[in-house]
Amino acid sequence: MANNKNHNEEHCSFCGRPASQAGMLLSGMNGYICAECSHQAEHIFREHGAVQSAKFEIQASDIPTPAAIKNFLDLYVIGQDAAKRILSVAVYNHYKRLKYNSEHGDKNEVEIEKSNIVMVGETGTGKTLLARTIARLLKVPFCIADATTLTEAGYVGDDVENVLVRLLQAADYDVAACERGIVFIDEIDKIARKSENTSITRDVSGEGVQQALLKLLEGAEVNVPPEGGRKHPEQKLIKINTRNILFICGGAFDGIERAIGARLNSNVIGFKGDETRQTLDRDNMLQYVQPMDLKKFGLIPELVGRFPVLTYLQPLDREALRRILTEPKNALVKQYQELFLMDGVKLDIEPAVLDLVVDRAVEYHLGARGLRSIMEGIMTDLMFDLPTLPKDRPFVLTRSLAEEKIRL
Ligand code: ADP
Repeated sequence: MANNKNHNEEHCSFCGRPASQAGMLLSGMNGYICAECSHQAEHIFREHGAVQSAKFEIQASDIPTPAAIKNFLDLYVIGQDAAKRILSVAVYNHYKRLKYNSEHGDKNEVEIEKSNIVMVGETGTGKTLLARTIARLLKVPFCIADATTLTEAGYVGDDVENVLVRLLQAADYDVAACERGIVFIDEIDKIARKSENTSITRDVSGEGVQQALLKLLEGAEVNVPPEGGRKHPEQKLIKINTRNILFICGGAFDGIERAIGARLNSNVIGFKGDETRQTLDRDNMLQYVQPMDLKKFGLIPELVGRFPVLTYLQPLDREALRRILTEPKNALVKQYQELFLMDGVKLDIEPAVLDLVVDRAVEYHLGARGLRSIMEGIMTDLMFDLPTLPKDRPFVLTRSLAEEKIRL
């Protein structure tokens, strides 16, 4: 009897499972498909570029102006105007290039080249934050990779192609969308070779990775293993063309100021002389950064050549740090206030507490990165007691209480 019932049951024509196991089945002319098989089918179609995800379809009206992009960045990132303007234009042009290429196909009269970007700035000044914020607004797939985890093929670590695997994942395995994406590579300075002169023994950690990265930047067809990891012979590989992928890199380039200073000093001798020297802003040498300084730092010339846009982030001064605590859309102070409100308590923080936090961050040379851990040091105990605090009046965090918590 049971057998008979099973026999009459509808089966998925792809995996053969009966409806009782596979769940809902969709019927076609001559068969059925279950949710899992249809999902897999979509996956396969995407990988072969046969369907595109609507999530990444760009309409002309989706292209934000550079001013709109910058305004959006302003909501989350304090200062760094030079970098914001450059990124805004880069993203705007990226969209326009994609539009131009899709309209003109292979009959391009003018090849609009992409402008990969390098951002130079001390740690904790907002490079990754800028990249993440841009990602919130984009209609193209976006991923962040860390250059320190990359190694040349054959060594322990990630193959450079794994950067593209991340992008493919961000694109829901839609290859066409992935090929229009943006990749942010953090800590690019960490793959610099250790000295400018090529030594006889190859510098595995640095130059090899740079060479591998160069291939991606140049616009190549790259085979990537869809699940990441090392390639192995039996594995299925997906071909990704990197011609239209925009690369944005960030790095602290510790000590590059010396190279910039040396270059500027030698340049001014004998021409313009003291006039130029006097106008140099010695406290922020990064603003004068030029591609040759990156070369001096240990990036190979071919790689430097692939980054036509170079920008810098300013070190954050006290005023910027203080603004970071309160102004951005997701400022730390706002976050703690929300957490308190969820327990029905209004949190008031005395301005002197913010000064104290900024003092500590400056003292520890942690930049904005330190603000959070210092605030946590103050707030953890308070949040422990939060559920038992009286709800009928605001809780005022005074400087003396904050000092006490920091000392603990
Ligand atoms: P970087 O990538 O330059 O080392 P991050 O962008 O990771 O630094 O910054 C670390 C944290 O510091 C961020 O998550 C953010 O909270 C804060 N921060 C850094 N710079 C800024 C800035 N300019 N505006 C607002 N917050 C910032």
